[in-house]
Amino acid sequence: MMRERDTVFQAPRRSLLSIIVPVFNEQEVLREFHSRLSAALVSAQVDEIEILFVNDGSTDETLGILREMARTDQRIQVIDLSRNFGKEAAMTAGLEFASGDAAVIIDADLQDPPELIPQMVEEWRNGFDMVYMRRLSRQSETWLKKTSASAFYWLMGLIGRVQVPENVGDFRLLSRRAIDALNRMLERTRFMKGLFAWIGFPAKEIAYHREPRQAGKTKWNYWQLWNFALEGFTSFTITPLKLASYVGVLTSLASLLYGLFVFLKTLLTGDPVPGYPSLIVVIAFLGGLQLLALGIIGEYLGRMFIEAKQRPLYLVNRHYKTIKRHTLSLV
Ligand code: UDP
Ligand code: MG
Repeated sequence: MMRERDTVFQAPRRSLLSIIVPVFNEQEVLREFHSRLSAALVSAQVDEIEILFVNDGSTDETLGILREMARTDQRIQVIDLSRNFGKEAAMTAGLEFASGDAAVIIDADLQDPPELIPQMVEEWRNGFDMVYMRRLSRQSETWLKKTSASAFYWLMGLIGRVQVPENVGDFRLLSRRAIDALNRMLERTRFMKGLFAWIGFPAKEIAYHREPRQAGKTKWNYWQLWNFALEGFTSFTITPLKLASYVGVLTSLASLLYGLFVFLKTLLTGDPVPGYPSLIVVIAFLGGLQLLALGIIGEYLGRMFIEAKQRPLYLVNRHYKTIKRHTLSLV
């Protein structure tokens, strides 16, 4: 006998894949990106596709080109932000606007090959909520960038609570529940790599060769990378704060011992006058330590200040979208 709940089945749903592309001054590569993406999407196992270009305040012809592309390809939507908010905010906007059952985040500069998307979709179909792409090669990058990146991941693994996978960028696929989880995180300082790792869920890694930029140039300089790393540390761990107190305890102990030593030395040799060099060294050292500890507190305090204001992460100027007319078929 068939019980009632056995007869319940899910109506077959058409699967929708969202492609999220943050763009900032990418006029040179957009058309090539679009044609390679379209060609790659042909073999992706989904019924419908939406391509969300998030224009992050570009100052070149990017918006014009995107709107033109949207006229010929109805899958394209353009979310035009009111100014440049940065890639993290642009991705957040894309994730909030995405209505797909899964979403792929991909750079517009063709460093992330769109040809891998079908493979990512396949892994999603296998039941993974997050398919992240690990770069095998970073040949196009400078020695300094590579070493600083690995130092960052090493430190993050050492003191952070979530394991941020190394050599993994933002190029990835997220399932609907992963997108919803990310959209629930309301923090203003968005260190996406960390947030992606924070949500957990079954994840699958795919390795690939990262190509050099097709055209245009990277938007990152070392100062921005440094701040990005600071953001990563401060938004995922409070270990530096604890470190300050431990260093404080250690220096107090050391100065106690040193004080004892000076006291005994004075008693034994009876010479109270010399000691200027050691005095100045100790004062400078302690002054430096105090400023360092204050600086660490300041980094956290500043971020709390930004969080407390609760400003929106981005503002949308316009949302360009072709409205499809659905014909209602009555059976
Ligand atoms: N991007 C963005 N806003 C920014 C900077 C970059 O939307 O403020 C986009 C950019 O158009 C590209 C992606 O983010 O699609 C990656 O940028 P980039 O290639 O400069 O970074 P890299 O590959 O050097 O890490
Ligand atoms: Mg790039």
